[in-house]
Amino acid sequence: MDYSYIVLILPALIFSLIAQAMVKSAFRKYSEMSAGMTGEQAAKMVMQMNDVPAVPVVPIAGTLTDNYDPKAQTIHLSQGVFATGSVSAVGVAAHEAGHAVQYAKGYFPIQVRNAIIPVSQIGAKISWPLLMIGIVLGSQHLFLIGILLFSAAVLFQLVTLPVEFNASRRAMAAIRESSYFTDEQIRGAKKVLTAAALTYVAALAMSVAQLLRLLLMFSGNSRRRR
Ligand SMILES: [Zn+2]
Repeated sequence: MDYSYIVLILPALIFSLIAQAMVKSAFRKYSEMSAGMTGEQAAKMVMQMNDVPAVPVVPIAGTLTDNYDPKAQTIHLSQGVFATGSVSAVGVAAHEAGHAVQYAKGYFPIQVRNAIIPVSQIGAKISWPLLMIGIVLGSQHLFLIGILLFSAAVLFQLVTLPVEFNASRRAMAAIRESSYFTDEQIRGAKKVLTAAALTYVAALAMSVAQLLRLLLMFSGNSRRRR
């Protein structure tokens, strides 16, 4: 383990593990608190309150696999969310509906994010092979192209943050304004969504740490060559 691994990667890794543990524990805790409404109903409520055309809400296999598919214009809710009447289910479902509202209203950061998806996907796929080949061949040029492509993937994660935070903000606004939930239920939903948001921050921190480490390696190699 070299110095840059201990200073950069290890803290980001620990942060990621903590964030994942937090989201699991918050979800589990508030899965036990009843919300008096299922995830499916909550998702529909958020769309209705925002006056946007309702998209289909359908169940999907797995745990925490919930997502909004913009191509199919469908909200997918996992089995523990779709037909479950817990605070966790309502929080997660309302968040996914928040994404549907973003698309319906043409929320700007989501447009930026979609515009950079192609480049960032290529970047995520071929940056590491290029970096490896750059190291093996001792090619600084290939290594630099690898870094630039990796940066595109990091940029995507950066633009994902406002999108995720905003979806949760829309979810919480609807949950509060519905006057359907108690203060305790509202606080619970907020905790679940805050923990989920933290995992996106942690993922970004991890990528930034990796990017910094690559830049350190690059400048170290350049210096040795002079
Ligand atoms: Zn989301």
